[in-house]
Amino acid sequence: MNKKLFITVLAVFSVCTIKAQILKEYTVAPWHGFSESAVTYSLDDLTPNQLPVAIPLFDKYGVKASLNVVTTWVKPDDWPKLKTVAGNGHEVTSHTVNHKNMAQLSALEFEQECSESKRIIRQYTGAECITLVYPYCASAHKEISKKYYISARCCSRHIEPPTPADMFDISSVGVGTESDVNTAEEFNKWVDEGVSQKGWCTFLIHGIDDDGGYSPIKSSELEKHLAYVAKNPQKFWVATFAQISKYIIERDALSIREIKKGNKITVITGCKEKTNLTTLDEPVTISRELPQGCSSAKTNAKNAVVSGGKIIFDVVPGKTYKINCK
Ligand SMILES: [Zn+2]
Repeated sequence: MNKKLFITVLAVFSVCTIKAQILKEYTVAPWHGFSESAVTYSLDDLTPNQLPVAIPLFDKYGVKASLNVVTTWVKPDDWPKLKTVAGNGHEVTSHTVNHKNMAQLSALEFEQECSESKRIIRQYTGAECITLVYPYCASAHKEISKKYYISARCCSRHIEPPTPADMFDISSVGVGTESDVNTAEEFNKWVDEGVSQKGWCTFLIHGIDDDGGYSPIKSSELEKHLAYVAKNPQKFWVATFAQISKYIIERDALSIREIKKGNKITVITGCKEKTNLTTLDEPVTISRELPQGCSSAKTNAKNAVVSGGKIIFDVVPGKTYKINCK
């Protein structure tokens, strides 16, 4: 092992060695901000209207989407646009190099599809590519996927529970003319089902309007649906496939201990188990009951609110936070 790699590995483990479990005064939010469910818009194949029509719509409603690109299909002119889109917080991720059925590839061919798409996306967009979308939803060679990615998407048309059974076989709901999800109401029905199951609803989108893409949806219906989701942040946490995958992994690994001195609490977070993440940077929302005699509190943690006898705030595993009771 070379020295640089050794230091990197050590750094990852060093934030993850606190074995403490979660103290009973704390609750870890299933989804960011204690939203009732999670939603992802996952767009395949970079059909012609995804960049000029869909992305401006997502931006209008403050929604970050995942664009899953086949690297040999991306037109040279589109790479700078994808770089801008990635810089604005959308995800640009791997739908492989050649869009072959992964189940029909040898292990070596599959590995090349993973490593090359990841390298090319990083080269042209500057963004780390950490998730995979299997062409034709054909999952295969999961042990190889795990070397390059933190999760992968299929399309088995169900809501994923807060802790999915297999992070390399995440379900999505195909939409458009080849499905029964076309109107805003039909989209809304799925996200409402996500709320009732307290789970994660991922939409699989191809064509937009008449762009020639597979199973198109109408941008006017997408817009009506986005307006519904955007006005209900307490119900729907909308984020990219990578963000939600990271949240799940960090949330399930999170450990919390604390040191209490008078009216000051030091919150020390870590991981109770090893994760496959190279960076722990996705904010996980937690709450702590206000101690007795404490009517309010302040913290240096982000997105803090005091409500219902609790202080709610964001943490990332491996960091320390201060709470001052008043
Ligand atoms: Zn595809």
